[in-house]
Amino acid sequence: MAQAIDLRSDTVTRPTPAMRKAMAQAEVGDDVYREDPTVNRLEDRAAEILGREAALFVPSGTMANQIAIRVLTDLGREVICEERSHILAYEMAMMAAFSGCLARPIRALDGVMTWTALAGEIRGRSIHHARTGLISLENTSNLTGGTVYPIHVSDDICDRAHEAHLPVHLDGARIFNAAVYLGRSAAEISQKFDSVMFCLSKGLGAPVGSVLTGSQEFIDEARIVRKMLGGGMRQAGVLAAAGLVALEEGPKRLHVDHENASFLGDALADMPGIRIAPAKVMTNIVVLDVTGTGLTAAEIAKRLAARDVLASAMSPAILRMVTHYDVDRAGCERAVVALKEAVGPAVRRTVH
Ligand SMILES: *Cc1c(COP(=O)(O)O)cnc(C)c1O
Repeated sequence: MAQAIDLRSDTVTRPTPAMRKAMAQAEVGDDVYREDPTVNRLEDRAAEILGREAALFVPSGTMANQIAIRVLTDLGREVICEERSHILAYEMAMMAAFSGCLARPIRALDGVMTWTALAGEIRGRSIHHARTGLISLENTSNLTGGTVYPIHVSDDICDRAHEAHLPVHLDGARIFNAAVYLGRSAAEISQKFDSVMFCLSKGLGAPVGSVLTGSQEFIDEARIVRKMLGGGMRQAGVLAAAGLVALEEGPKRLHVDHENASFLGDALADMPGIRIAPAKVMTNIVVLDVTGTGLTAAEIAKRLAARDVLASAMSPAILRMVTHYDVDRAGCERAVVALKEAVGPAVRRTVH
């Protein structure tokens, strides 16, 4: 049987031969004592690339986001975020459980909030309302189909938030995808944020790890919170070594993933019963609204799996496909054929 075309997520990538070699040869030490030279090198390089004073290597993007929320807010505050954002919808209510914060979710077209949309939700000192403690943006926005914030929109939110004395965090799990789409550097598109996290383990291809970046003062605090969460790793240089390869090499080939996602988007756009949101696939995520097929996303995912194509059912209506370096154009072509086979008969049934 051929190997499955795995479009569930860009987290499924396996380490490249270059990563495995770097891991095998990594110089290591105890990172809790700050003695792992490879982790130190990764953190220095990540800070440099993002144009920040400092960076912290963490086991997951979830941990990075939750550390940022803890450091930047206080108990009893609200965090303004998009309704479908990862920090709210995919992180186990951790902003409440760990930081004592409540989300103030906003629904924004394609997940891209604007200052105008969120300004009315900001609350100051009051004897009735929880005060806003933080604004968090996600770029690219995962659940809305890898959509990208125009730079002026995210810059504007940061500027105005800072005027209101509010910090802004960037969940930049896929910031390098956003940078490729915008044709700008990751540093340029994120310089106004107070903290930025990005994943090494998504499209960049590392097996494990994310990085949190910000001022030295912020990262000093973040390091303590990481330890609270049990995220202090020891000879983590074996992971950081793969992370360094991912960081240096990964961004250079993300455009290929974008081209493949675009191909999927174009090929599926005129399939009966399927609607692609947003209209234009910007990065490496294709989100399909399958309501018109008469099948749930989970049913379609099951039929695809029977044809050796894996996709994620994000809700009954939404099927997600994510491109990455372990899926080539031929794989995407196979996925299109499989989807046609999977939903074709169902659509005809509902039309009659
Ligand atoms: C993947 C992802 C994260 C972090 O996920 P982990 O699995 O915890 O590394 C955070 N935000 C977004 C938008 C993501 O897609």
